[in-house]
Parts: sequence; structure tokens; C-alpha cells
Amino acid sequence: MSDRNTVLITGASRGIGAATARRFAREGWCVGINYHTSQEKARALAGELEALGVPVGLYPCDVSRRDQVEEMLAAFLRDFGHIDVLVCNAGIARQELFTDITAEGWRRMLGVNLDGVFHCCQAALADMLHRKAGKIITLSSMWGQVGASCEVAYSAAKAGVIGLTRALAKELGPSGITVNCVAPGVIETEMNGLLSQETKAALAEETPLERLGTPQDVAEAIWFLASQGGDFFTGQVLSPNGGYII
Ligand code: NAP
Repeated sequence: MSDRNTVLITGASRGIGAATARRFAREGWCVGINYHTSQEKARALAGELEALGVPVGLYPCDVSRRDQVEEMLAAFLRDFGHIDVLVCNAGIARQELFTDITAEGWRRMLGVNLDGVFHCCQAALADMLHRKAGKIITLSSMWGQVGASCEVAYSAAKAGVIGLTRALAKELGPSGITVNCVAPGVIETEMNGLLSQETKAALAEETPLERLGTPQDVAEAIWFLASQGGDFFTGQVLSPNGGYII
């Protein structure tokens, strides 16, 4: 149990999720780190945050699995007593022609990126609705806003996240719970590890701010929405993208 503010971040073992965990830990929050396969990275991050003096919990689970998500929330609430902020960050991406997408590939993309948000929000809401307080922050992508060639399944899932966010914000506003979305541009993480240096350079050149984003850039947007400064925001899509789409 803790009197501190608490946050559960899905997909926090690396990339944007890990940067977000560091950002909240710097503010003294209890941090729940969800991961799926990167156990060593998650443990190393937990050690790093604990060294800052904040309570940390590790919650392995596949967010596409309802049963595992429910167990994760139960464990988080046992550890920290309540959930102030849920960051639905876990995600997967894949580049392929639309005609090459298999039914299984489509289901997995939607399962992790969209069903995962549905499961995590429902699981966290039991506590938030009871307390009539809480903030949910979802991760979409600028491709969810405008669509990307060769990323139809990813774009569809991320557009779904924006729809879910806006609708849920309207439903939960009267209950004192905000729901907002962060839709980043191209960010330097392992998710873009397969992009060549030439492609990255071209993407940076197409970006008005002439660089790709960092995980910290996105973590700052998430932190803003979670902090008091974000109290009057709900149903919004904040897009740290360097001006790539406006
Ligand atoms: P990343 O570096 O590839 O990290 C992905 C994270 O998601 C990892 O911690 C991974 O955990 C976790 N994850 C994947 N599948 C999961 C599952 N089934 N259950 C639980 N966790 C799972 O990605 P990132 O770049 O940080 O992206 C984070 C979010 O931002 C994603 O939603 C992504 O779509 C979005 N985004 C990224 C960019 C970008 O350019 N990087 C742009 C726009 C939006 P394990 O390693 O433990 O398996």
C-alpha cells in the first residue's frame, strides 16, 4: 500500500514505456512496469528506479490476454492499493503490403494494439470508478491519424485507439476520470530498428523540426497529461511529431 501517486505503464521494458517510467519515478511516483518478453530489461529498469527511492512493481503479462491483464491489475492493486494513472503504451508494429497480411497477423496486431487497450482500461476502471478519480493515457501514432502505406493493420489499430479514447473520455468525464491519447511521430526506438539509416534520414528531412523524436519527447507529453497541468484535458490527441503532420 502507498500514499504516493501510482502509475501502471504497459510495455515499459524498453523504448517509450521505459522513458515514461523514468519520468514518473523522477516525480516520486510508485511505478508499475508491465512487460511481455523483455524480463532482463524490465528488471534492470526496476533496479534503476528503486535506486531513486520509489516503490516499483514488475508485472509480466501479454496485454492481448484478458485473463493476464486482470491478474496484472489485481497484483498492482495488492501492491499499491489504488491506480491513479494507466498508460496503455504496449504495442507492436509490422511493415508489409496489405495483400500479404494474414488473418492471424491482422488479429495479433489488433489484439495487442487495440484489444490490449480495451482490456487494460476495463481492468483499471474498477478502482478508478470506485474512487471517481483517475487518468488514462493511450498511445496511438500519427499513422493512426493519417494512415501509413504498408502499415494498414497498425494504422487501423491505432485509429481505433483514438476512437476508443475520444468515446471513453465522454463516457467517463462525469465520473471524474480523464482519457487522453498521445500519438507520436517517428521515434528512435527498437520499433523502428529495421529502418535503414537512409530511411531515417529521409524521415528526419521531411520533419519540420529536422530530426526524429526521442522516447523522452513522448514521455514528456505523457507526463504533462498525467500531471496537474493536464487536469482540464480529456478526449484529446496530443501529437509529439516534430510537425510531420499538423
Ligand atoms: P518498442 O521499443 O518496440 O517497445 C514495445 C514495448 O511494448 C515493449 O516494452 C514490449 O515488451 C511491449 N509489448 C509488446 N507486445 C506486448 C504485449 N503483447 N503485452 C505487453 N507488452 C507488450 O516500442 P516503442 O517505440 O517504445 O512504442 C511504444 C508505443 O508507442 C507503442 O504503442 C507504439 O505503437 C507507439 N508508437 C511508437 C512510435 C515509434 O516511432 N517508435 C511512433 C508512434 C507510436 P517486451 O519487450 O517485454 O515484449
